[in-house]
Amino acid sequence: MASTPTAAGSDRTAGALRLPSSGRLADRFDRPLRDLRISVTDRCNFRCVYCMPRSVFGRDYAFLDRDELLSFEEIERIARVAVAHGVRKIRLTGGEPLLRRGLEDLIARLAALRGADGIRPEIALTTNGSALTVKARSLKDAGLDRLTVSLDSLDDELFQRMNDVRFPVARVLEGIDAAHEAGLAPIKLNMVVKRGLNDGEIEAMATRFKGTPYTLRFIEYMDVGTSNGWSLDEVVPSAEIVERISALHPLEPAAPAAPGETAARWRYADGTGEIGVISSVTNAFCGTCNRARISTEGKLFTCLFATEGHDLRALLRGGADDEQLAAALSSLWGARDDRYSEIRSSLTPELRAARNRIEMSYIGG
Ligand code: SAM
Ligand code: SF4
Ligand code: SF4
Repeated sequence: MASTPTAAGSDRTAGALRLPSSGRLADRFDRPLRDLRISVTDRCNFRCVYCMPRSVFGRDYAFLDRDELLSFEEIERIARVAVAHGVRKIRLTGGEPLLRRGLEDLIARLAALRGADGIRPEIALTTNGSALTVKARSLKDAGLDRLTVSLDSLDDELFQRMNDVRFPVARVLEGIDAAHEAGLAPIKLNMVVKRGLNDGEIEAMATRFKGTPYTLRFIEYMDVGTSNGWSLDEVVPSAEIVERISALHPLEPAAPAAPGETAARWRYADGTGEIGVISSVTNAFCGTCNRARISTEGKLFTCLFATEGHDLRALLRGGADDEQLAAALSSLWGARDDRYSEIRSSLTPELRAARNRIEMSYIGG
């Protein structure tokens, strides 16, 4: 079950806080905390077959009650403390984050935060794009900086089969264009590739978005959660994706844009833009992983594959002040030694299955 870092929270002497004077937090491998991903809802209007299969997330699935969710005030408090201690980017995710009513209010609150150096954190959002046509403008006005839209196929029949709620791909494409017109930039498009399902779409997706304002990124299908029945045979390695696209449109490697970046960049040799590949399975990037995740009900997870979260909501609702919250964050991040993707291949299928992995729809991508 979740552990609550009460010991760190209760001792407020400077030594016990273990906060470096720079405000930067470092884990056991000296990885800083830079990127905070916050899930604002565990609900979604899609039932993507690899994420929230209907067989598990059906009519009687028990989603969280409203009072279990972190309020915007609570999210803002956690984010404020995290930003004061080195977080530079906050990504809102879910479930489907645009289902959370008033999300623009939360974005505006987060966009008003400042780090110890006075720098404003970047505010990013990952969405399935279904509500973007309506929301793009208000998201931009609220202060959203970066947008990632998930798009797994251009083929309408396949897209609808994958989202399993008959949502037409044309409406997501319209939403992406609406976001561009609203001035949101950069816009990234994420395609999860699952062999035997949508790997036939790799070339069509690359061709369609080459030379557009959008950067397409291919994500290796991961063994998050336990409900998607993941198997290694269904992973299409990034190297194969790059090779297939390069055969049509030659690609050359490009340098990472930022430290800890998850995607390896490849640019088209003819200068018409770039793609990214996220090799979470075949080429783990734990060594530079600077991301923490907060679940919808306020548990801090130091790894996407962590089996247990730490209950920040209990601290907040128990009356902890910002200093105590900072101490808890420092102690949790300081104890972090996660590197699941690096050790995945050394785990037997039994050991992997025995891990009580959390679902992607609960923790966000
Ligand atoms: N609903 C939003 C969306 O789809 O963009 C945000 C939440 S969703 C869980 C975040 C990202 O996780 C999406 O890009 C989705 O494709 C990705 N994802 C979900 N399950 C995955 C899996 N098993 N392997 C790799 N990516 C996955
Ligand atoms: Fe919903 Fe996103 Fe998961 Fe699809 S990937 S079911 S849109 S949370
Ligand atoms: Fe980071 Fe965990 Fe993914 Fe490694 S497995 S990159 S530590 S989230």
